[in-house]
Amino acid sequence: MNILLTGGCGFIGSHLAERLLAEGHAVTCIDNFLTGSRANAEILGRFPAFRLIEQDVCEPLRERVDCDWIFHLASPASPVHYRRFAVETLLTNSQGTYRMLETARQQRARFLVASTSESYGDPDIHPQREDYWGHVNPVGERSCYDESKRFSEAITMEYWRTHGTDVRVMRFFNTYGPRMQRDDGRIVPNMIGQALLGKPLTVYGDGMQTRSFCYVSDLVDGIIRAMWCEEAKAEVINLGNPDEFTVMEFVETLKRLLEKPLEVIYKPLPSDDPRRRKPDIGKARRLLGWEPTIKLEEGLHRTMKWFEETMGEAAS
Ligand code: UDP
Repeated sequence: MNILLTGGCGFIGSHLAERLLAEGHAVTCIDNFLTGSRANAEILGRFPAFRLIEQDVCEPLRERVDCDWIFHLASPASPVHYRRFAVETLLTNSQGTYRMLETARQQRARFLVASTSESYGDPDIHPQREDYWGHVNPVGERSCYDESKRFSEAITMEYWRTHGTDVRVMRFFNTYGPRMQRDDGRIVPNMIGQALLGKPLTVYGDGMQTRSFCYVSDLVDGIIRAMWCEEAKAEVINLGNPDEFTVMEFVETLKRLLEKPLEVIYKPLPSDDPRRRKPDIGKARRLLGWEPTIKLEEGLHRTMKWFEETMGEAAS
């Protein structure tokens, strides 16, 4: 297939691009490196069928790209990044999604958009199923991300209703793994970095809030299955690992892995931080035959190894 992938040099995007290239597809990535990484572009550059267009997805495409499939993943995604680039986040998920949908419509390409568990906000329903409409603060500190992703979902579904574009909306839950940026502020890179440097782990609030963590290779597997799947057309599908942990349980898992006591310090809970989050993945199981396979302990072990190696490289 000829594939257009926005955000291809980001954390999830680069893993997806690498898998698609390894499977023999031609992949053109669009990235403006707002939060994407040059190191990821270098890894992908080893594949002859990789092409990079360095530009903002909000701008008209600088070069023509003939494509059968479009994966639209571009957007800042960590709370620290989308706060830092709030307006860019709003525009990427509105104007950027519109531009990519227009490309899909014109080329009759299949379109998959990366949405998020943040579409559910601070949920009243647990676990979250796709037919739950969510509980989102429309003007809060997370709204630049939550509301723009909700807009992205809405315009995607409208292209299906209005133009018959072959679309699918994937709601990714917390994903982690190698190539997360050390300073992106999320719990996995923060705490792994702190643990490796012998610093205290920062727990926000009382640590009783929950998240469900999906290892990146599992997520990528779900994304690719969704793109192939005819029945996923015009569907909204959760992709995430349903194993749920409190932040304190996450800390305990790290302690077990490192086999050493880790000091904890408490910091204020950021505003609108969801109290709990866990995907219902019944739909992904049914439509895609998909289910995560990597347990948190194993995924954290792999991630930690990668952080150790790359921290060593950065220091040398
Ligand atoms: N968190 C924490 N310490 C950190 C980073 C995050 O306690 O150093 C908490 C954060 O408040 C949230 C959870 O961990 O409740 C997951 O945060 P993250 O930023 O990874 O993702 P989110 O799901 O909030 O987008």
